[in-house]
Amino acid sequence: MILIDILTIFPEYFESPFRIGIIKKAIDGGLISIRLVDIRRFSAHRHNQVDDYPFGGGAGMVMKPEPIFRAIRHVRQGGGYKPRIILLSPQGERFSQDKAAALAGFRRLAFICGRYEGVDERVSENLVDEELSIGDYVLSGGEAAALVIIEGISRLVPGVVGNQESVTGDTFCGQFLKYPQYTRPRDYLGMSVPPVLLSGDHGKIDEWRLTQSISRTLERRPDLIDPDGSARLHQEDGRRRATAAGTKGATGSRKPPRSSGRS
Ligand code: SAM
Repeated sequence: MILIDILTIFPEYFESPFRIGIIKKAIDGGLISIRLVDIRRFSAHRHNQVDDYPFGGGAGMVMKPEPIFRAIRHVRQGGGYKPRIILLSPQGERFSQDKAAALAGFRRLAFICGRYEGVDERVSENLVDEELSIGDYVLSGGEAAALVIIEGISRLVPGVVGNQESVTGDTFCGQFLKYPQYTRPRDYLGMSVPPVLLSGDHGKIDEWRLTQSISRTLERRPDLIDPDGSARLHQEDGRRRATAAGTKGATGSRKPPRSSGRS
């Protein structure tokens, strides 16, 4: 069982996502418990103000430290285990499958969702255990990021996804992207399923799937196989030398990665 507190000024943001699918099942089954903590409740200001002007000037408002420190103090009081405190921030470490697996091992997590121009730096310096980003872009608030991370973690909490194989075989759980998958009908408007999948020969099916996984990883995410690009550079160097020598490169050409804007 993992207890997750979400500190936010918009608790209503989370009204529907936890009422559907795998997260709902996990909550109903007592595997995950989620509490929404309204940061405004911890403001000492009579209008529940939680933001103020930045010292030194500049655009926008900054989330004040006191309501967040108080909200965390409140969260720490119950629930037994000490929560791991995570601030959502575009400046944080990039969230990944490995990070999801690590966080799924904690008994308690608390997410602080920033808004406005961000959160007073003293929160990050003195209160949080880590900062996480969901990617190199800026959102208006940490709520969507918290949802992404919680969804990623939930799948890895034992018992949440019925068949563990569907988790361990996922993209990013190994070195390669997952192979292409098909279901009925066998033929749809002339588009047919690869015959090997209908052959009943599981050795051949496994071999086909592994080949597909490797080739689509090379095509779409070569960085997963060759993180620093050294193999690619080596290959290009080989190709250049071969061309200079008047022969075709030994490795042949690879289809370029797909563009992100699929039609
Ligand atoms: N001014 C900040 C900066 O340039 O780094 C950005 C603040 S952003 C408008 C407001 C809040 O959204 C942040 O405090 C953070 O909680 C959340 N946020 C924005 N982008 C995010 C990302 N890529 N990952 C995680 N949280 C993000």
